[in-house]
Amino acid sequence: MNMHGVATGRVPSGDGVPIAYEARDLGRGLPVVALVHSLAMNRRFWDPVAERLAGRAALLAIDARGHGESGRGDPPYTVQRMADDLRDVMDHLGVERAVVGGASMGGCVALGFAGTHPGRASGLALVDTTAWYGPAAPREWEDRAAKALAQGLPSLVDFQTTRWFSDGFRAREPEVVRACIDVFVANDPQAYVASCRMLGAFDGRPLMAGLRLPTRVLVGGRGLRGAGGHGAGAAGGHRRGTAAGHPRGAPPHAAGGARRRRGGRARTVRGGRPMTPFEFLLPYSLEEALSWLDPEDPGVRPVSGGTGVMLMMKAGVLRPTRLVSLHRIGRQHAAVAVNRDGELTIGGMARLADIEREPSVRERWPLIAHALRGVANPRVRAVATLGGNLAHGDPHLDMPPVLSALGARVVLRGPQGARMVDVEDLYTGYYETVIRRDELITEVIVPPQAGPAAYLKMTTRAAHDWPALGLAVVLRMDGDAVRRATVVAAAATDLPTRLSGAEAVLQQGGLADTVVRAAADAAAAEARLVGDAHGSAAYKTELLKVAFRRVIQTAMARHGSRA
Ligand SMILES: Cc1cc2nc3c(=O)[nH]c(=O)nc-3n(C[C@H](O)[C@H](O)[C@H](O)COP(=O)(O)OP(=O)(O)OC[C@H]3O[C@@H](n4cnc5c(N)ncnc54)[C@H](O)[C@@H]3O)c2cc1C
Repeated sequence: MNMHGVATGRVPSGDGVPIAYEARDLGRGLPVVALVHSLAMNRRFWDPVAERLAGRAALLAIDARGHGESGRGDPPYTVQRMADDLRDVMDHLGVERAVVGGASMGGCVALGFAGTHPGRASGLALVDTTAWYGPAAPREWEDRAAKALAQGLPSLVDFQTTRWFSDGFRAREPEVVRACIDVFVANDPQAYVASCRMLGAFDGRPLMAGLRLPTRVLVGGRGLRGAGGHGAGAAGGHRRGTAAGHPRGAPPHAAGGARRRRGGRARTVRGGRPMTPFEFLLPYSLEEALSWLDPEDPGVRPVSGGTGVMLMMKAGVLRPTRLVSLHRIGRQHAAVAVNRDGELTIGGMARLADIEREPSVRERWPLIAHALRGVANPRVRAVATLGGNLAHGDPHLDMPPVLSALGARVVLRGPQGARMVDVEDLYTGYYETVIRRDELITEVIVPPQAGPAAYLKMTTRAAHDWPALGLAVVLRMDGDAVRRATVVAAAATDLPTRLSGAEAVLQQGGLADTVVRAAADAAAAEARLVGDAHGSAAYKTELLKVAFRRVIQTAMARHGSRA
């Protein structure tokens, strides 16, 4: 220990990995605070805290394994192992009990420590952290690890900088930002990858029920609650995550002035960084927008009207790292026109309401106009775009089956140029499309509507609910004979699905009642229907038969009224 009461050293952990520590004022009868830093930082992270605690508490800060001056050890890492590392250091220094705290990754470790060494934690401080990063965590953390491995830690600097620090803080304190980034890029990539995988696999929720100790949770004041609201996850069982914290994983002095909530265990830090911030970019050109997309990072998404993106973020299934808004370039790619071949061309960023109002659409593609009138509500249609509707990949959406039945195709533009894909071939699974991460739908081309057509969506709980079944049909007639039938089912299936067996029955037999019934049976036999909250697969089988007959009747009735 030096004259300032600071002792440093390395202690072999249970599995022999040396764990570096720094202790201040131990043995002076002060309460001990033991702290674990965030991912890719080191114990210097807590220096500003040490200054504030001087004279009031003894401080013990460790370098987590794979970080700072600690050894790397062999992966896989686990939160439990890191918690045991802290215990081993405490044992070595004769510290029986401490208030244990951690930021981000360190918060997981602190939680793990308190949950598995209950007698050794006298209090818990959880800073911008979580007990569980959510169902998509293994994939998300693996993606981050893969990027670090493939492109090196410097490739994550932009992401990390905006994630840790608010715009204002970056402008005010560039030297703090620089210092943190220097620590970040100096990390051992293998240890970083092992730590990412550890966090992806971590689920500390079962530990929380057994915690009986004073706990303080700090989360970002401008946090995106519900969309990566990690603090809420950590606070569950104690207090809702209404508190705000310092910048995620950044040194505590990066925060604004702290304000204590009266009577609460939560603390608000004004100007605190959101927990899962993301970049929001507003490019001026299509080329610029494409350059901001990232084929490697699933967290980078284009956003048009944002109605689908917001639904995903609210549900917690999308935690973007960057949203590339198409708002500014929307107008250049929103034209609705009829080309020289008599095809309808619609810009990918055309709003649904504008398409619906277009006279040529109403006149020559009444199927589209009718279907659009049933999409969501006027407010959603006023901002939602056709490109967003087609790219979303949710099988419950209306335009994919409609445009698939009409034989439409989309133009996908990416860094390598443009390619054309039939809407029918756009979907590969539930929320899965062939659209590459660095491509945008810039245009939709719809051949002339061949003849009678209709789209029926059946809801089972409320009229405005998501459909249990969507069914689109387009017929090319030759007198009473059906020259060509196109039937596409959605919502009840994982992806929009052509029902070619039913089409063949209609093409061979026409539209007599018995034929339509036989075609409906064929449709029910071939469709791979999935049961969900809107009805079982067996129920949807019967629903499909009924809907099939109705959609044909509707198509013919509308056609008759136009003739
Ligand atoms: C209350 C409510 C009710 C709804 N009801 C219906 C309904 O009845 N029927 C229905 O069909 N939909 C419905 N939706 C869903 C929504 O209307 C559609 O998903 C909408 O068309 C999406 O368009 P957007 O421009 O808002 O897409 P966004 O939310 O901006 O994006 C959706 C997805 O597409 C991607 N994306 C956006 N634009 C492009 C592009 N040009 N190229 C490539 N990828 C792109 C985004 O990255 C994202 O993955 C509803 C939504 C809400 C909020």
